[in-house]
Amino acid sequence: MSTESPEPCDLLIHGGIVLAADVQNTVLHDGAVAIRDGRICAVGPTTNVRSTFTAEETFDAQGGVVHPGFIDAHIHVSQYTSRSVESLMAGTAITMGHWKAELTPEDEHASATMAAVDYLRAGYTGFVDPGTIFEPDAVAVVAHEVGIRIWLTDPYVADYTQPIFAHEPDLVSAGFLGRWPGSTDAAIKRLGSQLYRNGDADALVKAFIGIYGGRTSTETLWNAALAIAREHNVQFQEHRGYNPTEYLDEEASAGRSMIARLQDAGALGPGSTFVHMNVIHREDVARLGGTGTSIVWCPFQQMRAMGIGRAEPRMVEIARAGAVVTIATDIPRSFNFDALGSVAVCNAAGLGIPVTADELFRMRTIAAAESVGAGDEVGSLESGKRADVVVREPASSEALGLDPYAETAVVGMTRPPALTIVNGEIVLRHGQLLRADAIAAALAARASVKGLLVRVGLAG
Ligand SMILES: [Zn+2]
Repeated sequence: MSTESPEPCDLLIHGGIVLAADVQNTVLHDGAVAIRDGRICAVGPTTNVRSTFTAEETFDAQGGVVHPGFIDAHIHVSQYTSRSVESLMAGTAITMGHWKAELTPEDEHASATMAAVDYLRAGYTGFVDPGTIFEPDAVAVVAHEVGIRIWLTDPYVADYTQPIFAHEPDLVSAGFLGRWPGSTDAAIKRLGSQLYRNGDADALVKAFIGIYGGRTSTETLWNAALAIAREHNVQFQEHRGYNPTEYLDEEASAGRSMIARLQDAGALGPGSTFVHMNVIHREDVARLGGTGTSIVWCPFQQMRAMGIGRAEPRMVEIARAGAVVTIATDIPRSFNFDALGSVAVCNAAGLGIPVTADELFRMRTIAAAESVGAGDEVGSLESGKRADVVVREPASSEALGLDPYAETAVVGMTRPPALTIVNGEIVLRHGQLLRADAIAAALAARASVKGLLVRVGLAG
């Protein structure tokens, strides 16, 4: 026994199955995590950590899993409250484009707040919006109000919108198009408007450079965005290959593989993230894998693309080849956040290369953090990292302790976490939010969608 006096810390969680998501994939069956000043100061066996630290608060995990908070690497958060509206639009001339055209800052705030509440209850501590928030300030405040990490970028950066409207008729609306930049100059002016948020290292909201992507940018805009991202050492991100037909058309007109073209343009590497990529040719697997490029796999949308045809999904293959693959919800219209792992398992099973539970666990934690350039700060339980930690309820059927990765990242939750901790602060305890009022969030969300229904013409 050490004779030195114990070090102080703020919170010491002990007696849990600790899944660290570090390089060694450490699993501690009677593990502890100590937190001080918003950061993790120790991870180790309970006996070691308890003899080294004396805590303001101790929490007995009672055999529950302790893991880094999940991060949703891609969600259009302003549309979260639209998740069940599609059946009302069916058979009418009203599209999601009309819905987006009508979104006010109040609607975006209500939608992001509702999403944040659901995230904390599903074991998430952060999410990434790809530049589809019209008023970023309206969503950024949610980080503090609820207690969640948010990564965002400039709104709707694009200067060539005809192809997306040709391939995505459900987005067609003059009002929506009117909110996009009208020219290349206007689009370039939007780039980097959010990067000031990175000036405060402790802020819960951080920014990257994202363009809408696919075929919605000219080469001038695309090059400008990539250059600004590299200059500021932040992630460059865009949608690619959501629609396989559009992706293959673009390849056909260029006469070669998209991945090869991105490689030639210097756009592959750890600083770049491509969302969807529902077409990856066999010969592109090695090309992508060697670079550490991030690919965001949205399994529901990938299955949809497979149903339409022409998709070539290779997510598990590229992950094993060395690409950083993370999974995301896009907009979870047919499942809840915690079920994302199950959806990915079904997607991969249908492709004939099953994804393993430990792979999925990494895709939901450290890989998601890396995909937004935050892998040094969050995404794993390691000394020095920011304390975004989830303690699962031990009194539930998924806490059997047989395969904690499967029980955590695939099976899903019968109950919300015992604790969700963001930046060292407990923001949810036994399912109850501590900063935000869940009933108020739900009432605001309902009022927002009622108003939107009237404004888009779906209700009188
Ligand atoms: Zn998307």
